[in-house]
Amino acid sequence: MTGNECKKVLIAGGGIGGLAAALACAQRGVSVQLLERAARLSEVGAGIQIGPNVTRILQAWGLGAALAQVAAFPKQLQARDARTGQVLGSLRLGGRAQALYGAPYATIHRADLQSLLHTGAQAAGVDMRLGQTVQGWRDTAEGLAMTTAEGLAVGAADDRVGDTATASPWVADALIGADGVWSAVRQQMLGDEPPRFTGHLAYRALVSQADLPAHLRTQDVTVWLGPRLHVVHYPVRSGQWLNLVAIVHGDRSAQADAWDAAGHTQALMQAMGAVGRDLHERLASVPAWRQWALHDRAPVTAARDMAQGRVALLGDAAHPMRPYLAQGAGMAIEDAQVLAQCLTTHAGRVAEGLQAYAQQRWARNARVQTRAIRNGRIFHATGPLALGRNLSMRLMGERVMDVPWLYGGGPR
Ligand SMILES: Cc1cc2nc3c(=O)[nH]c(=O)nc-3n(C[C@H](O)[C@H](O)[C@H](O)COP(=O)(O)OP(=O)(O)OC[C@H]3O[C@@H](n4cnc5c(N)ncnc54)[C@H](O)[C@@H]3O)c2cc1C
Repeated sequence: MTGNECKKVLIAGGGIGGLAAALACAQRGVSVQLLERAARLSEVGAGIQIGPNVTRILQAWGLGAALAQVAAFPKQLQARDARTGQVLGSLRLGGRAQALYGAPYATIHRADLQSLLHTGAQAAGVDMRLGQTVQGWRDTAEGLAMTTAEGLAVGAADDRVGDTATASPWVADALIGADGVWSAVRQQMLGDEPPRFTGHLAYRALVSQADLPAHLRTQDVTVWLGPRLHVVHYPVRSGQWLNLVAIVHGDRSAQADAWDAAGHTQALMQAMGAVGRDLHERLASVPAWRQWALHDRAPVTAARDMAQGRVALLGDAAHPMRPYLAQGAGMAIEDAQVLAQCLTTHAGRVAEGLQAYAQQRWARNARVQTRAIRNGRIFHATGPLALGRNLSMRLMGERVMDVPWLYGGGPR
């Protein structure tokens, strides 16, 4: 192997970002090995919204038909007042998104999206190793030597491969840290502060539409806006299930510290305070919630935050964001598409390829991170800001609710 040529990529993390990157690189002929710390690939039982900027990429990867089988395609997004139940504004999705942005707006169960990406990555020949926790790497002339907590040394400098390293399937030319918000790869690459707690707690639930009274069943995306809170719900699993996310302000209690700790309806209702009858009835229809403490980082400031030498970050490892633009996974998928393009366009020079990737991605990721923070302030507004928000939605509707630079932009 030459030190510069990109024949093989190692990806740390098999979440949506890591799987997407593995699939995109392998489809372009790069040999990919993916190391995931979990013993099996699993996504939490929750939904995800994917805008046209993302479904467009999934279609380009040949996943359009499979997506159509499992996703839902809401016709509109409606914003409502959490207290009065009043409709504040609507954004047509469905045919409008398709016509304007060339791809649909979809809502999907995370496990279904993960399964699409996993199947696609396997078909493209990705070598997946589960139960491998990446700890760090050494940059050697021959390639990147990686270690995992399980004791398997991966890479050219592995003692066990020694002189036969060039023929070893473990040799890597590039390392991609797609290991999420608490990324170990990021820690070694940037050595910065840990992610920050946002002061917001997310409660999530899935409910079968068949179990709901008829007037609570819906195929729309609905966002309820209130003081220091908002609630989003949308259909998943071809519309048969409803995914709900309620965000409130709160302390990072011991319970919220734990990943996916059980949340309680009572605690949620208390944190929400007074909400209108419509929203209250919907929340009370949920038998069980799961709770997350939301963390993020300040927006990316430069390309060097995303790539250095032969190592790059992708998805939440690079730019964890608040979920108020519903684009964290979307940006990870966009990252994956650009990464694969850059690695193959600059095939002879890995570091140049990763630099080009970071140059193309950092500003858009920063813009989405910034907009997500701003959306949170607007969604949770009180007093005059809330009045102004409601008025502008009523008067301008789609013009303030659509995000053309986001849905129409991104990699092609
Ligand atoms: C409440 C909420 C709602 C959201 N809604 C949306 C939405 O509607 N649309 C949207 O696009 N985004 C949404 N997001 C954001 C989205 O969930 C994330 O941005 C996305 O899942 C990030 O994917 P990732 O692969 O980068 O990271 P992760 O999903 O965190 O995956 C990281 C993977 O790496 C593995 N790993 C970690 N450390 C190591 C290691 N050392 N070695 C090996 N493997 C390791 C983990 O086990 C995991 O599998 C939401 C987030 C939240 C919290």
